[in-house]
Amino acid sequence: MQKTNIQENCQKHKGQFKSILLFDQNNIQPLMCLSCAKIASKNSNNVIDVNEFIHSDEDSIFSNFPPLIDDTLYQKLDELLADQEKNFLDKCISQVQNYFYQLKAEINIKLDLQRDKIKNNIIQIFCQNDSLIHRFNNISQKKELQNLYNNYNEQSAQKIKEIVNQMYQNINQNTQQIKQKVDEIMEVLNKFRLDQPLQTKNQLIQLVEKINFFQDSLLDLNKINKQEQIITSDIRPQQKVNQIELLGFEKSKNFKNSQQIIIEKTKTNELLIRQSREGFGISYSNFIIDPKKKYVLRFEIQPLDQSNYSDFSFIAGLIQENHINSSEIDCGIRLLYQGQKSLSSSSIIESTNKNLEIRIHLQDQLFKIVSLPSYHNVYELQKKETIKENCQFRLAFLLYYTSHKFVINYFSEVNKFENDILK
Ligand SMILES: [Zn+2]
Repeated sequence: MQKTNIQENCQKHKGQFKSILLFDQNNIQPLMCLSCAKIASKNSNNVIDVNEFIHSDEDSIFSNFPPLIDDTLYQKLDELLADQEKNFLDKCISQVQNYFYQLKAEINIKLDLQRDKIKNNIIQIFCQNDSLIHRFNNISQKKELQNLYNNYNEQSAQKIKEIVNQMYQNINQNTQQIKQKVDEIMEVLNKFRLDQPLQTKNQLIQLVEKINFFQDSLLDLNKINKQEQIITSDIRPQQKVNQIELLGFEKSKNFKNSQQIIIEKTKTNELLIRQSREGFGISYSNFIIDPKKKYVLRFEIQPLDQSNYSDFSFIAGLIQENHINSSEIDCGIRLLYQGQKSLSSSSIIESTNKNLEIRIHLQDQLFKIVSLPSYHNVYELQKKETIKENCQFRLAFLLYYTSHKFVINYFSEVNKFENDILK
């Protein structure tokens, strides 16, 4: 668009162009001459040359427009948007970019080193001088027998007899030697687990989210984001993101058979929790619940074996931070799945729903399980008073039997619970 000056003469004031916007609240005149504007308005500050609009560009700001209650804001706007401040902005951004560039590079190097170290360890364990096959070859005297049979005669027949006889004489020692090596390797294989590295991965990802360039907590990015969320929550539909990749579960170190629990993460970040043997075990979340936050966790209970729909039961609940590795869940909801038997107890809820959602908001002493997808059944916590303000809790499962596994497929912090009649 072509920018032209408005050149209209004032009828009253000869020689003056009409080029002023007067913007008194009760008297707004889009185009006047300056003298007319001064006469019409007591507050001469509420005038602006319309050429300022005509010649404005993306970075233009005005010294007294738009009308604001706080006059000092015009000055602050001017300072913040001045060139030096723009440079400062660029400087901050380039520092942030450099930081992440360096971080990535250093982490990559560190990860490569650690990967190679672990790979070498594994290779060493499996390919020592005295490998399993090496030991077997020695004891079985494979090579020697091969030679003897290749040149078979009476003499070699005698020799073969001697060798096998000798093997019987050394049978205990030979068995022991092979067993020792087999056990050694089995032990390594049994100890090879992905859960600890996956846990570390989750912790790393969570650490990255804590990176913050602002010392002052008032400038905490999370808070700024939250303020934006509050501002926009009325117009934008609530955004729900599955944060399952941040979620991890750990097993209690000392509670009963907890060490038999197996926790796996699938390629799609689903968490699988099951028991390798019958017994009681506790598995708890990798984070402490923030009482102010609302959490949603969804899971499905799947039989390990398609034919096996035997009775089983579990507790989903809360465990205090100082109990996680030693004792029982502090409070929870026990769900019982059964075929024939009927067992009535107020603390046990019979259920048929295998798709469930846990909702947590500790500030409101809220912990409940709802059935999916219809939210038809709601299971409430009985002893809400256990959720004390001064305690730190983690989400925990108490598992009893081996027949089923838990597949946790959704985890999110939400602003409000969906379809929530009770809360
Ligand atoms: Zn005039």
